[in-house]
Amino acid sequence: MSDVSLEAARRRTFAIISHPDAGKTTLTEKLLLFGGAIQMAGSVKSRKTSRSATSDWMALEKERGISVTSSVMQFPYSDRIVNLLDTPGHADFGEDTYRVLTAVDSALMVIDVAKGVEERTIKLMDVCRLRDTPIMTFINKLDREGRNPIDLLDEVESVLGIQCAPVTWPIGMGQRLKGVVHLVSGEVHLYEPGRNFTRQDSTIFASIDDPKLEERIGAPMLAELRDELELVQGASHPFDLARYLAGQQTPVFFGSAVNNFGVQLLLDFFVEHAPAPRPRATTSREVAPSEPQLTGFVFKIQANMDPQHRDRVAFMRICSGKFSAGMKAFQSRTGKELKLANALTFMASDREIVETAWPGDVIGIHNHGTISIGDSFSEGEVLHFTGIPNFAPELFRRARLRDPLKLKQLQKGLAQLSEEGATQFFRPLMSNDLILGAVGTLQFDVVAYRLKDEYGVDASFEPVQVATARWIRCDDARKLEEFREKNAMNLGIDAAGQLVYLAPTRVNLQLAQERASGVEFLATREHA
Ligand code: GDP
Repeated sequence: MSDVSLEAARRRTFAIISHPDAGKTTLTEKLLLFGGAIQMAGSVKSRKTSRSATSDWMALEKERGISVTSSVMQFPYSDRIVNLLDTPGHADFGEDTYRVLTAVDSALMVIDVAKGVEERTIKLMDVCRLRDTPIMTFINKLDREGRNPIDLLDEVESVLGIQCAPVTWPIGMGQRLKGVVHLVSGEVHLYEPGRNFTRQDSTIFASIDDPKLEERIGAPMLAELRDELELVQGASHPFDLARYLAGQQTPVFFGSAVNNFGVQLLLDFFVEHAPAPRPRATTSREVAPSEPQLTGFVFKIQANMDPQHRDRVAFMRICSGKFSAGMKAFQSRTGKELKLANALTFMASDREIVETAWPGDVIGIHNHGTISIGDSFSEGEVLHFTGIPNFAPELFRRARLRDPLKLKQLQKGLAQLSEEGATQFFRPLMSNDLILGAVGTLQFDVVAYRLKDEYGVDASFEPVQVATARWIRCDDARKLEEFREKNAMNLGIDAAGQLVYLAPTRVNLQLAQERASGVEFLATREHA
């Protein structure tokens, strides 16, 4: 096998999806601990002290170094290399999260044992389903009283529409938590609270028939466990690798992230069974990870930690080939060659200059606005990876400038900030308005703050009569021209120069669609 195939085969690139407070951050920390990647206790934690208070969030974002480094966390585990891609925590950032999920090969779903399937889990699961992303499930907070495990699995199956295959099973819960049984190996791992267990120092019995288990948990509890296991085996499905890889079945683990209990069992199973990078679709052909030439796409852009330098980091997921420091890559959208110097890697939560990277890895490329979300890179072939959409925003505001002389700065700021993907910027054909679209209101505050902080522009955002936006596509040039003339009042251009219909009301949109046969109104714009 070639180096590329070997390196690709040992990559595991994934993201954690969960409802806020289910334990994503805590679990991330424990996983990093196993990978030897944590240097500071609480290094993951520090980013997210407050999700709802706008001002705190901004102060936090100012320490952008932290959020850039924790965007991707790479660590070795057994003979594998794990890439954990962070999904933004704030509910407003659904679109960002979506794009992160296009860059992973699998996901890990965290569920609070007391709360079960929550609203954001459902949404994220819908996103995973679009690409049939394989999902493992961790039911967390077992050290607390929660719901009946069988009911929880029922809920996952009925609400999320995915079959459950329990791999570990809890012995008790809350005060009575004694451990978990591994349903594949038969091993029993005891829970001894108050210690941060690794596999080596937790008590393990080879099976539930070990007489010492009865000594530890007592005969009544053991009898209860036997009954329950019988029930579980009758009612649930055994792990089926093919079904898991097809996104139809989720292996389920129970544990307590904060106590580091049940986490290593999950991680062991994960590195063994979770998929390595798989072939990816482009507009012209499928690209296999084992191909020798470098390809990749940009799924995220983030302002760099030093606002003085105004450069941005583009996160590129490598799809095939080998990346070597200083190599040139071909940017399909512009047809230009770009030197990938000083690319960042995310090993061990430190930013280091990367020498090489392989399929499944993510590298951070410094640039000054020359790279956009969705850009594909190769070694010369024109390739456009598909499936990285821009969603139509749902909220719109007009930018109002306090100092009219700063118009140029404002335009530049809005355009650059929308490259990061959280907001979108539109210019109507018939007016000088600058309209910003977002999926959550918080983003307008964030943009106003950053315009001032990074561009020296004092702007506010006021309501504007736009209800929704649709990207216009029409292959017939004459029809398009006619449409443009008739609808000029409601048309605009987005930051990428694409024609967009800015509908003042939903009813207006519907009428416009009915009247314009042969013209497509798209709710997402594929980056290409
Ligand atoms: P996130 O919002 O999903 O990132 O959740 P966090 O990891 O920040 O966890 C939310 C809260 O749940 C924090 O107070 C954690 O300390 C707590 N927590 C996480 N895991 C456990 C667990 O296993 N047991 C208990 N009792 N609390 C936990």
